[in-house]
Amino acid sequence: MVQRLYLAKYIVEDVNTIHHDSALIVEDQNIKKIQKKSELSFEQLQNSEDLGDVVISPGLTNAHSHVALNSVKGLGYGTASALYDVMWGVEPALDEDSVYKLSLLGMIDAIRSGTTSINDHYFFADSVAKAACSIGIRGFIGHTVMTEYGPWTGKTEITKAKEFVQNWKESSLVHPVVAPHETSTVSPEILIDLYEYAQEVNVPIHIHLAQTQKEMNYIKEKFETSPIKHAANLGILDKNVIAAHCKVIEEGDLEILSASNCFPIFCPTTHGLSGKPMDTNSLTKNETKWGIGTDCSGGNDDYDMLEEMRAAILINNTHSQGNLITPKEVFDISTRLNISRVSLNAMKGTLAEGQTADFISIEINNSRMQPLHDIVNNIVMCASSNEIKDVFVNGKEVLRNNQLVNIDEEKIIFEGTETIDKIFKETGFIKRIQSGDFN
Ligand SMILES: [Zn+2]
Repeated sequence: MVQRLYLAKYIVEDVNTIHHDSALIVEDQNIKKIQKKSELSFEQLQNSEDLGDVVISPGLTNAHSHVALNSVKGLGYGTASALYDVMWGVEPALDEDSVYKLSLLGMIDAIRSGTTSINDHYFFADSVAKAACSIGIRGFIGHTVMTEYGPWTGKTEITKAKEFVQNWKESSLVHPVVAPHETSTVSPEILIDLYEYAQEVNVPIHIHLAQTQKEMNYIKEKFETSPIKHAANLGILDKNVIAAHCKVIEEGDLEILSASNCFPIFCPTTHGLSGKPMDTNSLTKNETKWGIGTDCSGGNDDYDMLEEMRAAILINNTHSQGNLITPKEVFDISTRLNISRVSLNAMKGTLAEGQTADFISIEINNSRMQPLHDIVNNIVMCASSNEIKDVFVNGKEVLRNNQLVNIDEEKIIFEGTETIDKIFKETGFIKRIQSGDFN
């Protein structure tokens, strides 16, 4: 057993509990306790590491990401539909190696902005999982399954998705999930099959739901109902379902969503850019808890949960109808609720005894964070990735003194952009960019 002590000016155990001048004591991969510095023995003090003028906080969880989908950064704001023209335009050229390299590129962005866990949905999930292990981030990861339209469809993908769950279920860093793409791209039979499989192996389902008007039109035409009602009719919505977006809806959908107890994910930047945010106000009125995620480029060009927390407040409160949310509520969602739901309550996202040691340190002796009247409010309203100094996952160092520990950052950026160039050449994307398709 290895014990480590980290001294900090402030330690946020959870949104309501803040310790001053204390040590976070970590034993192997778990939190042992938080103890006042003045109560430490001479020997403990000798063996402790002082992180300096920082706040130690639970790390952030991104409840909906596709970290490898950064290839189309900066594109998709013009007339082309981001999902159908931009993302699906490059995806046929992906392979194991490119997804590994692009995942690392996206993960750097996530880690540098204080994210310790991602809930990721993508093709070649094995490569995303290997990238998580290389860099050290916690990954709730699912292999995307599509039965129609996608770059890869057919039985092999379903087999791969299930094999992925079996291959990674014992990992302490990668937690497999089942990831059907969406209601209009997966047949009812396969949606039910994957739902039953997820129940059998006790992992969550991560799905896009009521994401686009195209999905709504397709489901209306084929099943004469909305995507949310279609999913409910199939019996695949319950507390183990993480449902990204839930924003293209019709009357009665939000009530069905609330009654199902699934976990709708608000992606504030993506939703704001599309002009159609998830109706967080009505969900809150219905006493439905919701999570926060970044989604990916083509809708949100970074994986920065610090930005996303602020955007969540701005968008929710702009449409508030009286349901204003506060920075503390958003902090609680991003640290505690997101990981509790995506881990099916196995993890609590606090720094209480017995929890996994997933924490970050945020520098406070700077103009961005001072004056520091309220620590949690400042983390949400002021902190940027520049202030994230250290990131630990499972008690292990991932970022120390602003440097990534496990990978060569320069090499990842070089290989990532090189991969994107190759994909763009292969798909003819480079010509479409030059001709102004995505301006
Ligand atoms: Zn998505």
